Amino acid sequence: MIEHDPPSPTRPRGVEHTARLLLLCESMSLELARLLPALILSTSMLACVAHDRMLDGGETSGDGDMGTGDGDGDGDPSSEACPNELFPAVSPAPENAAYPDPTLAVYCEGGEVIVESNGIPGYEFIPLTPNELAAIDWQWRFPVEGELAAETSEIPLLGPVGIAVNGLPVYGPNEGPFPDPYGDPVYNGIVDSCGGHTAMAGDYHYHTLLVECLSSGYGPDEPSPVIGFSFDGFPIYGSRGCLDAACSEVVEYVSGWVETGDPTTHAWDNHAYQGGDDPTILDPCNGHVGPEGDYHYHVTDGFPHVLGCYAGTATVNMGVGPGPMP
Ligand SMILES: [Zn+2]
Ligand SMILES: [Zn+2]
Repeated sequence: MIEHDPPSPTRPRGVEHTARLLLLCESMSLELARLLPALILSTSMLACVAHDRMLDGGETSGDGDMGTGDGDGDGDPSSEACPNELFPAVSPAPENAAYPDPTLAVYCEGGEVIVESNGIPGYEFIPLTPNELAAIDWQWRFPVEGELAAETSEIPLLGPVGIAVNGLPVYGPNEGPFPDPYGDPVYNGIVDSCGGHTAMAGDYHYHTLLVECLSSGYGPDEPSPVIGFSFDGFPIYGSRGCLDAACSEVVEYVSGWVETGDPTTHAWDNHAYQGGDDPTILDPCNGHVGPEGDYHYHVTDGFPHVLGCYAGTATVNMGVGPGPMP
């Protein structure tokens, strides 16, 4: 079960190592898998995907401390930087009566944002993989204040790289070894109309994010709201943003990655970062320093859809094993 095609040879070094460890994690006991990330952190920025089902059943209530999510963004300057108001309250979709109601709690502690969710989306779940949707006690952590690192770092080949503002995980732009080895699941049409699907453990996760699935009240010509956070603490906006501080023009930010081959398999192999002088072209991580001087990511139509790398230093978050998608 450990024998899978190694990830692409042209993918930056370290990835193969990461993939092997991830596969290893899948077959390990809960306790061991939880220990592993700490052991390998120094050699790899790996988000070891452990079987992280919580045993204590401490459900968080969906509505208690949620902000309104109206995105006005300019409250009391002396208030804490905790971004909990950017997470809209979650509510159940009538079509999902067979599943628990979605839950979400967001708070800050010790310089970290902590997001707890049960992994159930607030819109109709439409199965696109054989994996049934399962409630999972997620707890995600990332810095309240993202800081640009001296160098960018790779996102994990598999597993979570950040979260959407509904508390559900975002994965990178490639699938696991099956059905199309490491192919782009968005390109391959195996994500739903909100950019997500379920993996082996029933864990619903995104490979791209859509404003209309995660936020409300934003017109298509307005600057996009924050719809997620990377584990390095930087926010992820939808694709539209202001071109200058006065917002004289709202533009669509685009990926600087170009297709160099067929991304049905080995998505990373078949793209290269080209960039360009146009200010709407994002950096290799799919982010930029915006007109307000703050670094953030944008979701793009094309690869890598959400993150191309981490511009800051990511907190290692465990997930459930991404595993193959039969
Ligand atoms: Zn996936
Ligand atoms: Zn921007």
